[in-house]
Amino acid sequence: MDSVGVAAAAPDAGPGAAWQSKCPWGAPNTTSISCSLADVMSEQLAKELQLEEENAAFPEVVAVAEGPFITGENADTSSDLMLAQMLQMEFDREYDAQLRREEKKINGDSKVSISFENYRKVHPYDSDSSEDEVDWQDTRHDPYRADKPTTTPRRGFIGKGKDITTKHDEVVCGRKNTARMENFAPEFQVGDGIGMDLKLSNQVFNALKQHAYSEERRSARLHEKKEHSTAEKAVDPKTRLLLYKMVNAGMLETITGCISTGKESVVFHAYGGKSATEDKVIPSECAIKVFKTTLNEFKNRDKYIKDDYRFKDRFSKLNPRKIIRMWAEKEMHNLTRMQNAGIPCPQVVILKKHVLVMSFIGKDQVPAPKLKDVTLSSEDMKKAYYQTLNMMQQLYKECNLVHADLSEYNMLWHDGKVWLIDVSQSVEPTHPHGLEFLFRDCRNVSQFFQKGGVAEALNERELFNAVSGLNITADNEVDFQAEIEALEKMNEDHVQNHGKKLSTFSSDGDPPIYDE
Ligand code: ADP
Ligand code: MN
Repeated sequence: MDSVGVAAAAPDAGPGAAWQSKCPWGAPNTTSISCSLADVMSEQLAKELQLEEENAAFPEVVAVAEGPFITGENADTSSDLMLAQMLQMEFDREYDAQLRREEKKINGDSKVSISFENYRKVHPYDSDSSEDEVDWQDTRHDPYRADKPTTTPRRGFIGKGKDITTKHDEVVCGRKNTARMENFAPEFQVGDGIGMDLKLSNQVFNALKQHAYSEERRSARLHEKKEHSTAEKAVDPKTRLLLYKMVNAGMLETITGCISTGKESVVFHAYGGKSATEDKVIPSECAIKVFKTTLNEFKNRDKYIKDDYRFKDRFSKLNPRKIIRMWAEKEMHNLTRMQNAGIPCPQVVILKKHVLVMSFIGKDQVPAPKLKDVTLSSEDMKKAYYQTLNMMQQLYKECNLVHADLSEYNMLWHDGKVWLIDVSQSVEPTHPHGLEFLFRDCRNVSQFFQKGGVAEALNERELFNAVSGLNITADNEVDFQAEIEALEKMNEDHVQNHGKKLSTFSSDGDPPIYDE
């Protein structure tokens, strides 16, 4: 019943609260990578992202623009660190220019001149004071350099008459180089060169400078990677662009907030807009599942997809980003099969890359509670059980699928019935581990309903047989599982010998349909 579910739902039902406490988009922070909803909707941001995307599409442009902080596809000016550094450089450059003007004004044509050299902000990568510098970097298009490289020395000489020392003097120059090492990034250990009166030749200095520079680039990149992998960065700029495009196209009205942040996905609520094609109606409320583009969590899911023959040919050739898209694609296909079989589940609206839009199970932005979070009357509990049993049978028989992550966490209670969600990992029963997955599903379901007081609930072995139509007779779990594995092996052998799978496992006929 509705009154049971919608109001309760402690952890999930309050998108507002969850949004503020957990959600990284909650606090407005203009310099942070994490984005606010305003960002998601921001036209300017979208334009920037569009530009970025276009840049990525034309690598030669990127190559030309390659500067200290833009590294190939990681081109991203949205990090605090980078922005701060870029601003600092800009500031330093302006400051130095101002100094130069002051210097010139004071000195005029006077023979005796003063110098503000010591007050200059010499940027670690920006210092060039020697014409015989061995250039270690193609600086033709370096955007972080002064527009016109200084060709005349800032201070060509010191001293008078025969005591004159030019800046090319080895000792002075060497000491100066040593001192300039202090300008390397703070985390670059240079030791006490000045104390030792170390004199570095230009060549050595250049090599060190290059090393310091690449070290800093490397650590900046590592830092970036770390940032992107935290939960807050689940929605990266490219995803934001995708979401923005959906809103811009009128397909979605507004994206209201985040419903769930999981290890592998982030789910948003949105109000549906208008469809471009007449024949398709966009639900008034939608759920947007964004599969995370951070890869770590997906590594241990390889076995689901790698052994799924539907994806077999493609798996080996794919990069991780594409594999994540495949998860989204899988979820879409599986939901469609379920929809066709009449199983209550979200209806697919659209799939774009790793973003799946589907109908929202719930009402007025409040998602339906998970079965684990809802307190059902014993009557409803029993009803939910028989419905679940039937859905598992339909899933197996009509959809040729095993959910593979079925539990009270992935069943929602809405409109007085159970809805199945989260089917990206679902596989066909003849998947090399399909029956094991089914057995695990059965164990979760049995245990949940038995604990929930449904006396009629079959135990996991009975449930397995009821769903699969197989007749495994072992009366204990260990033997039962051994038989399951034997069946799986038989199927694999069949693949080896005949080059194709058994279409189904042999059974005594259709699984019996259980009902109240
Ligand atoms: P995950 O892989 O992160 O578990 P799920 O598909 O289970 O992904 O979605 C996470 C949560 O988001 C669900 O537990 C549910 O609360 C909510 N959710 C997902 N899809 C929908 C939907 N279509 N309607 C309402 N809520 C949804
Ligand atoms: Mn889930």
